[in-house]
Amino acid sequence: MTAGDTSTSTETTPPDEAFAALSDETRLRAIQTVAATAQPTFTELYEASDAETTAGFAYHLRQLTDRYLRKDPETERYELTAAGRAVARALDAGTFTERVDREPTAVDSDCPVCETPALLARVDDNTVSVACRACETELLSLPFPPSGLRGRDTETVLSAFDSYHRRRTETAADGVCPDCAAEATGRIVFEETPDLPGSEPRPVVESACERCDFRLRVPVSLTVRDHPAVVSLSADHDAGLLDRPIWNLGPEWQETVLSEDPPAVAVSVTVEGERVRLLVGDGPAVVDVERSTVEPADDANNAVGDVDSSLDTEEALDTEEALDTEEALDTDDALDTEEAPDVTEAHDLDASAEAGS
Ligand SMILES: [Zn+2]
Ligand SMILES: [Zn+2]
Repeated sequence: MTAGDTSTSTETTPPDEAFAALSDETRLRAIQTVAATAQPTFTELYEASDAETTAGFAYHLRQLTDRYLRKDPETERYELTAAGRAVARALDAGTFTERVDREPTAVDSDCPVCETPALLARVDDNTVSVACRACETELLSLPFPPSGLRGRDTETVLSAFDSYHRRRTETAADGVCPDCAAEATGRIVFEETPDLPGSEPRPVVESACERCDFRLRVPVSLTVRDHPAVVSLSADHDAGLLDRPIWNLGPEWQETVLSEDPPAVAVSVTVEGERVRLLVGDGPAVVDVERSTVEPADDANNAVGDVDSSLDTEEALDTEEALDTEEALDTDDALDTEEAPDVTEAHDLDASAEAGS
């Protein structure tokens, strides 16, 4: 125990003992009844149970009391402890008891990589994935609780999936485990993608908890989508970048690997001829930010006064690609990396992600 913990007291029960108390249908149902009822009495709980005698039911309740349930000494009514609420949530969510699979369904959205309307969403063992059937890029693949899938159509599932993982990704990027609240750290790893076109490894941020088995792998871009520089770029151009779903940030985003060791990835976002470029390292930490105007190289001779309309998204992206290699090296110098990166490849936002938790 460190000095900062002197006012903390911790009580630990062996896991087998804690879980043994739950290994009975009558007890699990009692927890669910307490969760669904406002402070039930013993009689109310007994009547909702399948126990044959009050003595037998009282025995089961005693196994739960203090750890999962507590009885108010004055009113003699029952309520859940924090651990009891966690059990009730897992039971209701089907976390331990349900496996959901769902055939691929079309998503009403263009692929950010090949820009064809060919995205499909599927569910495989409680994991939601969005992939493009035209360019075969997997955009995102993350676990999702069965309760988020039950009775919902694909559109509603994806909307809930977006909201759920948006917060979890932000929490993990802040260094806090979204499952147990202990410290989480992220590092950039390079994922081999033998099944996908282009064989270069793709950078993803892998967050891991020091305490529990929380793991999350998401595209680097996703961890900086709410960076103030991106927020203000989006606001200045009314681009709505933050309204995009996490599985499709849009064609404005591009990732460039500057160095694999130490890992450094430049994430650039280009909107209407303006670009924000974030240099991201392990953490994930943004170590450098730059906002600049993208010169429309191919349109240098266009009539003055028509600059804005000459800068459509596609041209802006072409220009950005042309600039990437050169500037990647400049930024790399700024990063104090002694050796020139041997890999300087443009990556579209096609890093897949996966997690186990
Ligand atoms: Zn595609
Ligand atoms: Zn954790």
